[in-house]
Amino acid sequence: MVSIRAERAAILDGRSIAEQIKKEVAAEVQALSQTSGLKPCLAAVLVGDNDASAVYVRNKVRACDEVGIASEQHRLPSSTMTAELLELIRELNQREDVDGILIQLPLPKQIDEATIIEAVNPTKDVDGFHPVNVGLLAMGRPRFVPCTPAGIIEVLERNKIEIAGANACVVGRSQIVGRPVASLLLQRHATVTICHSRTHDLPSVTRQADILVAAIGRPAFIRGNFIKPEATVIDVGVNKMTDTDEARAVFGDEAKKRIEAIERRGYTLVGDVHPAEADEVAGLRTPVPGGVGLLTVAMLMRNTLQAAKWRRGL
Ligand code: NAP
Repeated sequence: MVSIRAERAAILDGRSIAEQIKKEVAAEVQALSQTSGLKPCLAAVLVGDNDASAVYVRNKVRACDEVGIASEQHRLPSSTMTAELLELIRELNQREDVDGILIQLPLPKQIDEATIIEAVNPTKDVDGFHPVNVGLLAMGRPRFVPCTPAGIIEVLERNKIEIAGANACVVGRSQIVGRPVASLLLQRHATVTICHSRTHDLPSVTRQADILVAAIGRPAFIRGNFIKPEATVIDVGVNKMTDTDEARAVFGDEAKKRIEAIERRGYTLVGDVHPAEADEVAGLRTPVPGGVGLLTVAMLMRNTLQAAKWRRGL
Protein backbone atom coordinates (compact mmCIF):
# COMPACT_ATOMS: atom_id res chain seq x y z
CA MET A 1 0.00 0.00 0.00
CA VAL A 2 1.37 3.39 -0.95
CA SER A 3 0.61 6.10 1.58
CA ILE A 4 -0.52 9.44 0.14
CA ARG A 5 1.21 12.56 1.43
CA ALA A 6 0.43 16.22 1.05
CA GLU A 7 3.87 16.94 -0.39
CA ARG A 8 5.25 15.48 -3.58
CA ALA A 9 8.82 14.40 -4.21
CA ALA A 10 11.09 17.33 -5.00
CA ILE A 11 12.65 17.19 -8.45
CA LEU A 12 16.43 16.94 -8.79
CA ASP A 13 17.16 19.10 -11.80
CA GLY A 14 19.86 17.62 -14.01
CA ARG A 15 19.90 20.56 -16.39
CA SER A 16 21.31 23.15 -14.00
CA ILE A 17 24.00 20.77 -12.73
CA ALA A 18 24.99 19.81 -16.28
CA GLU A 19 25.24 23.51 -17.21
CA GLN A 20 27.35 24.19 -14.12
CA ILE A 21 29.76 21.33 -14.93
CA LYS A 22 30.08 22.48 -18.54
CA LYS A 23 30.86 26.02 -17.32
CA GLU A 24 33.57 24.64 -15.01
CA VAL A 25 35.06 22.60 -17.87
CA ALA A 26 34.93 25.59 -20.24
CA ALA A 27 36.80 27.77 -17.73
CA GLU A 28 39.50 25.10 -17.32
CA VAL A 29 39.79 24.57 -21.07
CA GLN A 30 40.30 28.30 -21.51
CA ALA A 31 42.91 28.41 -18.74
CA LEU A 32 44.72 25.43 -20.30
CA SER A 33 44.81 27.17 -23.64
CA GLN A 34 46.24 30.34 -22.08
CA THR A 35 48.92 28.58 -20.04
CA SER A 36 49.98 25.86 -22.47
CA GLY A 37 48.38 26.61 -25.83
CA LEU A 38 46.64 23.26 -25.57
CA LYS A 39 43.13 22.52 -26.88
CA PRO A 40 41.70 19.13 -25.84
CA CYS A 41 40.29 17.06 -28.72
CA LEU A 42 37.61 14.36 -28.76
CA ALA A 43 37.30 11.90 -31.66
CA ALA A 44 33.80 10.40 -31.89
CA VAL A 45 33.28 7.25 -33.94
CA LEU A 46 29.82 6.36 -35.22
CA VAL A 47 29.31 3.10 -37.09
CA GLY A 48 26.11 2.45 -39.02
CA ASP A 49 22.90 4.44 -39.18
CA ASN A 50 21.23 4.00 -35.81
CA ASP A 51 19.17 7.22 -35.42
CA ALA A 52 19.46 7.38 -31.64
CA SER A 53 23.26 6.93 -31.81
CA ALA A 54 23.51 9.72 -34.40
CA VAL A 55 21.58 12.06 -32.06
CA TYR A 56 23.83 11.13 -29.11
CA VAL A 57 26.98 11.83 -31.15
CA ARG A 58 25.57 15.13 -32.41
CA ASN A 59 24.83 16.20 -28.81
CA LYS A 60 28.36 15.28 -27.74
CA VAL A 61 29.92 17.25 -30.59
CA ARG A 62 27.69 20.23 -29.79
CA ALA A 63 28.78 20.08 -26.13
CA CYS A 64 32.44 20.08 -27.26
CA ASP A 65 31.75 23.33 -29.17
CA GLU A 66 30.10 24.82 -26.09
CA VAL A 67 33.06 24.18 -23.78
CA GLY A 68 35.85 24.88 -26.29
CA ILE A 69 36.97 21.27 -26.85
CA ALA A 70 37.91 20.40 -30.44
CA SER A 71 36.05 17.45 -31.90
CA GLU A 72 36.01 15.32 -34.98
CA GLN A 73 33.48 12.77 -36.17
CA HIS A 74 34.32 9.54 -37.94
CA ARG A 75 31.30 7.95 -39.64
CA LEU A 76 31.66 4.42 -40.93
CA PRO A 77 29.07 2.41 -42.86
CA SER A 78 26.98 -0.28 -41.16
CA SER A 79 28.86 -2.94 -43.19
CA THR A 80 32.14 -2.07 -41.37
CA MET A 81 34.05 -5.11 -40.08
CA THR A 82 35.98 -5.40 -36.82
CA ALA A 83 39.36 -5.17 -38.60
CA GLU A 84 38.45 -1.88 -40.33
CA LEU A 85 37.30 -0.29 -37.09
CA LEU A 86 40.46 -1.54 -35.36
CA GLU A 87 42.52 0.20 -38.02
CA LEU A 88 40.80 3.54 -37.31
CA ILE A 89 41.26 3.08 -33.55
CA ARG A 90 44.99 2.34 -34.05
CA GLU A 91 45.31 5.59 -35.98
CA LEU A 92 43.45 7.60 -33.32
CA ASN A 93 45.50 5.96 -30.54
CA GLN A 94 48.70 7.12 -32.24
CA ARG A 95 47.65 10.67 -33.00
CA GLU A 96 49.20 13.12 -30.55
CA ASP A 97 46.41 15.69 -31.10
CA VAL A 98 43.58 13.29 -30.11
CA ASP A 99 42.97 13.15 -26.35
CA GLY A 100 39.73 11.22 -26.10
CA ILE A 101 38.25 8.44 -28.23
CA LEU A 102 34.56 7.70 -28.05
CA ILE A 103 33.10 4.69 -29.83
CA GLN A 104 29.34 5.15 -29.86
CA LEU A 105 27.60 1.93 -28.78
CA PRO A 106 25.84 -0.25 -29.78
CA LEU A 107 27.98 -1.40 -32.71
CA PRO A 108 26.55 -3.40 -35.64
CA LYS A 109 26.24 -7.12 -34.89
CA GLN A 110 29.20 -8.29 -37.00
CA ILE A 111 31.63 -6.18 -34.94
CA ASP A 112 33.16 -7.71 -31.83
CA GLU A 113 32.40 -5.02 -29.24
CA ALA A 114 34.79 -6.36 -26.57
CA THR A 115 37.72 -6.37 -29.00
CA ILE A 116 36.96 -2.78 -29.99
CA ILE A 117 36.67 -1.55 -26.40
CA GLU A 118 39.96 -3.23 -25.51
CA ALA A 119 41.70 -1.68 -28.52
CA VAL A 120 41.19 1.90 -27.33
CA ASN A 121 44.27 3.25 -25.56
CA PRO A 122 43.21 3.29 -21.86
CA THR A 123 44.66 6.80 -21.49
CA LYS A 124 42.23 8.03 -24.18
CA ASP A 125 39.27 5.93 -22.98
CA VAL A 126 36.98 8.82 -21.99
CA ASP A 127 33.98 6.47 -21.78
CA GLY A 128 35.74 4.46 -19.07
CA PHE A 129 34.84 1.09 -20.64
CA HIS A 130 38.37 -0.33 -21.14
CA PRO A 131 39.14 -3.24 -18.76
CA VAL A 132 42.06 -1.26 -17.26
CA ASN A 133 39.73 1.59 -16.30
CA VAL A 134 37.01 -0.82 -15.17
CA GLY A 135 39.61 -2.58 -12.99
CA LEU A 136 40.91 0.66 -11.49
CA LEU A 137 37.35 1.66 -10.59
CA ALA A 138 36.67 -1.76 -9.02
CA MET A 139 39.87 -1.36 -6.97
CA GLY A 140 38.65 2.00 -5.67
CA ARG A 141 41.29 3.92 -7.66
CA PRO A 142 39.16 5.36 -10.47
CA ARG A 143 40.80 7.02 -13.47
CA PHE A 144 38.17 7.38 -16.23
CA VAL A 145 34.74 6.73 -14.78
CA PRO A 146 31.84 5.91 -17.16
CA CYS A 147 29.92 9.12 -17.78
CA THR A 148 26.38 8.24 -16.64
CA PRO A 149 27.48 6.78 -13.26
CA ALA A 150 29.82 9.75 -12.74
CA GLY A 151 26.88 12.07 -13.48
CA ILE A 152 24.69 10.27 -10.92
CA ILE A 153 27.31 10.90 -8.23
CA GLU A 154 27.44 14.59 -9.22
CA VAL A 155 23.65 14.85 -8.81
CA LEU A 156 23.85 13.31 -5.34
CA GLU A 157 26.88 15.26 -4.15
CA ARG A 158 25.89 18.66 -5.53
CA ASN A 159 22.48 18.27 -3.88
CA LYS A 160 24.26 17.36 -0.61
CA ILE A 161 22.59 13.97 -0.35
CA GLU A 162 24.40 11.93 2.29
CA ILE A 163 25.97 8.86 0.67
CA ALA A 164 28.23 7.64 3.48
CA GLY A 165 26.32 5.16 5.63
CA ALA A 166 23.20 5.29 3.43
CA ASN A 167 21.54 2.12 2.19
CA ALA A 168 21.91 2.36 -1.58
CA CYS A 169 20.20 -0.04 -3.94
CA VAL A 170 21.09 -0.24 -7.63
CA VAL A 171 18.64 -2.11 -9.87
CA GLY A 172 20.58 -3.24 -12.95
CA ARG A 173 24.09 -4.65 -13.29
CA SER A 174 25.21 -3.46 -16.71
CA GLN A 175 28.82 -2.53 -17.42
CA ILE A 176 27.86 1.01 -18.39
CA VAL A 177 25.55 1.93 -15.50
CA GLY A 178 24.68 -0.57 -12.76
CA ARG A 179 28.09 -1.99 -11.87
CA PRO A 180 30.10 1.24 -12.04
CA VAL A 181 27.54 3.28 -10.09
CA ALA A 182 27.51 0.57 -7.40
CA SER A 183 31.34 0.81 -7.19
CA LEU A 184 31.21 4.59 -6.89
CA LEU A 185 28.58 4.45 -4.15
CA LEU A 186 30.58 1.82 -2.27
CA GLN A 187 33.71 3.93 -2.57
CA ARG A 188 31.75 6.75 -0.93
CA HIS A 189 30.86 4.40 1.94
CA ALA A 190 27.25 3.55 1.13
CA THR A 191 25.99 0.08 2.01
CA VAL A 192 25.27 -1.13 -1.52
CA THR A 193 22.86 -3.78 -2.77
CA ILE A 194 22.83 -4.66 -6.48
CA CYS A 195 19.61 -6.14 -7.88
CA HIS A 196 18.89 -7.69 -11.27
CA SER A 197 16.36 -9.85 -13.10
CA ARG A 198 16.96 -12.83 -10.79
CA THR A 199 16.45 -10.90 -7.55
CA HIS A 200 13.64 -12.43 -5.47
CA ASP A 201 10.92 -10.10 -4.19
CA LEU A 202 12.52 -6.98 -5.66
CA PRO A 203 10.21 -4.45 -3.92
CA SER A 204 11.14 -5.78 -0.47
CA VAL A 205 14.83 -5.15 -1.30
CA THR A 206 14.46 -1.76 -2.99
CA ARG A 207 12.22 -0.55 -0.14
CA GLN A 208 15.24 -0.64 2.19
CA ALA A 209 17.06 1.95 0.10
CA ASP A 210 17.70 5.53 1.14
CA ILE A 211 19.17 5.98 -2.35
CA LEU A 212 17.53 3.95 -5.11
CA VAL A 213 19.11 3.90 -8.58
CA ALA A 214 16.99 2.37 -11.36
CA ALA A 215 18.93 1.34 -14.50
CA ILE A 216 16.75 -1.36 -15.98
CA GLY A 217 15.37 -0.29 -19.35
CA ARG A 218 11.69 -0.98 -18.52
CA PRO A 219 9.21 1.89 -18.64
CA ALA A 220 7.79 2.96 -15.24
CA PHE A 221 8.83 -0.38 -13.71
CA ILE A 222 9.67 0.95 -10.24
CA ARG A 223 6.28 1.55 -8.64
CA GLY A 224 5.43 3.39 -5.43
CA ASN A 225 5.61 0.19 -3.35
CA PHE A 226 9.27 -0.30 -4.39
CA ILE A 227 10.26 2.98 -2.73
CA LYS A 228 11.10 3.75 0.89
CA PRO A 229 9.23 6.87 2.08
CA GLU A 230 11.39 9.98 1.59
CA ALA A 231 14.06 8.06 -0.38
CA THR A 232 16.14 9.68 -3.12
CA VAL A 233 15.28 8.02 -6.42
CA ILE A 234 17.65 8.28 -9.38
CA ASP A 235 15.96 7.28 -12.62
CA VAL A 236 18.48 6.31 -15.30
CA GLY A 237 16.02 4.70 -17.72
CA VAL A 238 15.26 6.24 -21.10
CA ASN A 239 12.30 4.49 -22.72
CA LYS A 240 9.88 5.50 -25.44
CA MET A 241 6.20 5.44 -24.53
CA THR A 242 3.79 5.52 -27.47
CA ASP A 243 0.44 4.66 -25.85
CA THR A 244 -1.65 7.61 -24.65
CA ASP A 245 -3.56 5.49 -22.09
CA GLU A 246 -0.28 4.36 -20.54
CA ALA A 247 0.90 7.98 -20.46
CA ARG A 248 -2.32 8.98 -18.69
CA ALA A 249 -1.75 6.29 -16.06
CA VAL A 250 1.90 7.12 -15.44
CA PHE A 251 2.40 10.87 -15.68
CA GLY A 252 -0.14 12.31 -13.21
CA ASP A 253 -0.29 16.10 -13.56
CA GLU A 254 2.04 15.99 -16.54
CA ALA A 255 -0.17 13.58 -18.51
CA LYS A 256 -1.74 16.24 -20.73
CA LYS A 257 1.63 17.54 -21.92
CA ARG A 258 2.94 14.00 -22.49
CA ILE A 259 -0.13 12.89 -24.43
CA GLU A 260 0.25 15.95 -26.65
CA ALA A 261 3.86 14.92 -27.30
CA ILE A 262 2.75 11.40 -28.30
CA GLU A 263 0.13 12.85 -30.63
CA ARG A 264 2.66 15.27 -32.13
CA ARG A 265 5.75 13.09 -32.61
CA GLY A 266 4.64 9.55 -31.82
CA TYR A 267 6.26 9.08 -28.39
CA THR A 268 7.23 10.59 -25.07
CA LEU A 269 10.21 9.59 -22.94
CA VAL A 270 9.67 7.79 -19.67
CA GLY A 271 12.20 6.47 -17.18
CA ASP A 272 12.35 3.18 -15.31
CA VAL A 273 10.46 4.79 -12.41
CA HIS A 274 6.70 5.39 -12.34
CA PRO A 275 6.76 9.18 -11.93
CA ALA A 276 3.28 9.75 -10.47
CA GLU A 277 3.65 6.99 -7.86
CA ALA A 278 7.25 7.95 -7.01
CA ASP A 279 6.05 11.51 -6.40
CA GLU A 280 3.72 10.20 -3.70
CA VAL A 281 6.44 8.33 -1.79
CA ALA A 282 9.96 9.54 -2.57
CA GLY A 283 11.61 12.60 -1.03
CA LEU A 284 13.59 13.46 -4.16
CA ARG A 285 13.65 12.11 -7.69
CA THR A 286 15.32 12.81 -11.00
CA PRO A 287 12.94 13.42 -13.92
CA VAL A 288 13.07 11.87 -17.40
CA PRO A 289 13.92 13.75 -19.50
CA GLY A 290 15.89 16.47 -17.69
CA GLY A 291 17.65 14.28 -15.13
CA VAL A 292 20.81 12.18 -15.29
CA GLY A 293 20.76 11.93 -19.10
CA LEU A 294 21.98 15.52 -19.37
CA LEU A 295 24.82 14.80 -16.97
CA THR A 296 26.22 12.06 -19.20
CA VAL A 297 27.40 14.51 -21.87
CA ALA A 298 28.73 16.97 -19.29
CA MET A 299 30.83 14.22 -17.69
CA LEU A 300 32.20 13.23 -21.10
CA MET A 301 33.46 16.80 -21.45
CA ARG A 302 35.10 16.55 -18.07
CA ASN A 303 36.72 13.19 -18.92
CA THR A 304 38.09 14.60 -22.19
CA LEU A 305 39.62 17.57 -20.38
CA GLN A 306 41.14 15.19 -17.82
CA ALA A 307 42.55 13.02 -20.60
CA ALA A 308 44.25 16.04 -22.19
CA LYS A 309 45.81 17.00 -18.85
CA TRP A 310 46.81 13.53 -17.64
CA ARG A 311 48.42 12.54 -20.92
CA ARG A 312 50.73 15.52 -20.57
CA GLY A 313 51.35 15.10 -16.86
CA LEU A 314 49.38 18.29 -16.03
P1 NAP B 1 20.99 -3.23 -19.75
O1 NAP B 1 22.40 -3.44 -20.14
O2 NAP B 1 19.91 -3.78 -20.60
O3 NAP B 1 20.81 -3.78 -18.27
C1 NAP B 1 19.55 -3.81 -17.66
C2 NAP B 1 19.68 -4.39 -16.29
O4 NAP B 1 18.39 -4.40 -15.70
C3 NAP B 1 20.22 -5.82 -16.27
O5 NAP B 1 21.20 -5.96 -15.27
C4 NAP B 1 18.97 -6.65 -15.97
O6 NAP B 1 19.22 -7.79 -15.18
C5 NAP B 1 18.14 -5.68 -15.14
N1 NAP B 1 16.73 -6.03 -15.25
C6 NAP B 1 16.01 -6.25 -16.37
N2 NAP B 1 14.76 -6.60 -16.04
C7 NAP B 1 14.69 -6.61 -14.71
C8 NAP B 1 13.67 -6.91 -13.78
N3 NAP B 1 12.46 -7.27 -14.17
N4 NAP B 1 13.96 -6.81 -12.47
C9 NAP B 1 15.17 -6.44 -12.05
N5 NAP B 1 16.19 -6.15 -12.89
C10 NAP B 1 15.95 -6.24 -14.19
O7 NAP B 1 20.65 -1.68 -19.59
P2 NAP B 1 21.60 -0.40 -19.34
O8 NAP B 1 22.47 -0.20 -20.51
O9 NAP B 1 22.19 -0.45 -17.97
O10 NAP B 1 20.49 0.74 -19.37
C11 NAP B 1 19.41 0.78 -18.45
C12 NAP B 1 18.51 1.94 -18.78
O11 NAP B 1 19.24 3.16 -18.67
C13 NAP B 1 17.98 1.94 -20.23
O12 NAP B 1 16.68 2.50 -20.23
C14 NAP B 1 18.92 2.87 -20.96
O13 NAP B 1 18.33 3.50 -22.08
C15 NAP B 1 19.22 3.88 -19.88
N6 NAP B 1 20.51 4.57 -20.03
C16 NAP B 1 20.49 5.91 -19.92
C17 NAP B 1 21.67 6.62 -20.01
C18 NAP B 1 21.63 8.11 -19.85
O14 NAP B 1 22.54 8.79 -20.25
N7 NAP B 1 20.58 8.64 -19.26
C19 NAP B 1 22.87 5.96 -20.24
C20 NAP B 1 22.87 4.57 -20.31
C21 NAP B 1 21.67 3.89 -20.20
P3 NAP B 1 20.10 -9.06 -15.71
O15 NAP B 1 21.52 -8.59 -15.63
O16 NAP B 1 19.77 -10.13 -14.75
O17 NAP B 1 19.65 -9.30 -17.11
